[in-house]
Amino acid sequence: MVNTNPEILEKFKNIDSLEVLINPNDLKRLSKDFYSYSPILKSKLEGCMADLVVRPKNVQAVLEVAKICWEYSLPLTIRGSGTGNYGQSVPLSGGVVMQMNYLNKVESICKDTGFVKVQTGCLMGQLNSDLQHKGRELRLLPSTWKTATIGGFLAGGSGGIGSIKWGFLRDPGNLIGLDLITIGENPQLLELDAQQSEPINHAYGTNGIITSVIIATDIRHYWHSIIIDCNSLSESIDVLKICMGTAVELKLGTILEKDIVQQMPKWFNQYSVLDKVLIQSTLEGIRTIEMICKKYNLSTNMLGIEDELENGLNDLVWNHTTLQLRAKDKSWTYLQMLLPLDKEMELINKLRNSYGRKILWHIEAVSQNGFPRLAALPVFKWTDKKELYEIIDLCKKCGAIIFNPHVLTVEGGGLGVVDADQVKAKNRYDPKGLLNPGKLEGWNKKEKYII
Ligand SMILES: Cc1cc2nc3c(=O)[nH]c(=O)nc-3n(C[C@H](O)[C@H](O)[C@H](O)COP(=O)(O)OP(=O)(O)OC[C@H]3O[C@@H](n4cnc5c(N)ncnc54)[C@H](O)[C@@H]3O)c2cc1C
Repeated sequence: MVNTNPEILEKFKNIDSLEVLINPNDLKRLSKDFYSYSPILKSKLEGCMADLVVRPKNVQAVLEVAKICWEYSLPLTIRGSGTGNYGQSVPLSGGVVMQMNYLNKVESICKDTGFVKVQTGCLMGQLNSDLQHKGRELRLLPSTWKTATIGGFLAGGSGGIGSIKWGFLRDPGNLIGLDLITIGENPQLLELDAQQSEPINHAYGTNGIITSVIIATDIRHYWHSIIIDCNSLSESIDVLKICMGTAVELKLGTILEKDIVQQMPKWFNQYSVLDKVLIQSTLEGIRTIEMICKKYNLSTNMLGIEDELENGLNDLVWNHTTLQLRAKDKSWTYLQMLLPLDKEMELINKLRNSYGRKILWHIEAVSQNGFPRLAALPVFKWTDKKELYEIIDLCKKCGAIIFNPHVLTVEGGGLGVVDADQVKAKNRYDPKGLLNPGKLEGWNKKEKYII
């Protein structure tokens, strides 16, 4: 135990510009994320706790933490704001949790390219607001964007508001480079370019400590929010696809089926409880969306500029839909998948045949490899693991690609296969395997991947 070994504790305390926390309440609080959305993870992770939490105030302090962890072979788990869903920042083997919140400066915004270099502990809400003052904005926002850090999003997130246009974080062009600290006898600060950064992207902080990232940004837009009322889920899918096929700019395209709408905050369902399509577009785009709705006889509610709304759509979409349901009843859980192209209703109907209205459909429009696709984050009340995997199997049989939020590893939550480049990067930058142990499956069979 680090915190009961006076020699090690003293070494951490002697680092300038490092906050050291050993109070059990802090250790408990800063060892958790939102894993309780999965009853499976909840039972696995409830007891996991760091021995020590540190908060570096500059890069030098990070280098010194890395050196001590190497010297004493201490597990080191990096933490942003702890809004991850899969126990991503939970220290499975105890050790040190390093929270990056003080490393939060926007370092530069390039006028010509719009690339921003920012320290990883910067909150995305703050970063977006700084960018907006310079006429730019973040391309991708998780629905937790107000409280999540940019480093946590890059290492743990995948996409969100903006994915309809910009795809996913791992798509080439979103991450331009990063600064990384290695774990070793003499930890190094490396500047990686876009290609070298790829294996670090979405690796749960298992293969390097990221201190800064360079990401691409979009020109600032004033996104207007509109709600379209539909008479069925299949009509909602048709309308969303028509909107995706128009010559307008979109930031968001979400479908909530009416049983979900019923459970959303009052302001949202006060007019009608119907299946709804939620769109964010530019003002010119909204005119086209309204024209389409008129043509199909669908009524709309224009809310206004999303950033200026007291109640906006951002709090109802992506995993915030699940959050809203869980605010009422903690037995709601969810799945994540890419729906089969043009066979979305076929899959939904097959699931309906087996499970009736137990599974409720929440759909998000995304761009996948440049093509418009529909992803889904269906919600259902938890029964047991057996049923969960039966649902997963049926979805897979119907052609869905599952991103399972009930597992702990990078691979399990992704495509289910080891990315050899992530393992090689871990071998290079964290050869003792101290960073976030237990989260990179490929590391257990590293001989197979490191040639
Ligand atoms: C209600 C809800 C809605 C959500 N919506 C979305 C969504 O729309 N899209 C989405 O992608 N995700 C979503 N998430 C998941 C999560 O909020 C995001 O991925 C978020 O960006 C994580 O940021 P964080 O600062 O909280 O990171 P944390 O949870 O603290 O960390 C996430 C991972 O990144 C690693 N990490 C953090 N900082 C660093 C660093 N500097 N160097 C190396 N590794 C690091 C951690 O070790 C951990 O493995 C949602 C979660 C909830 C609970």
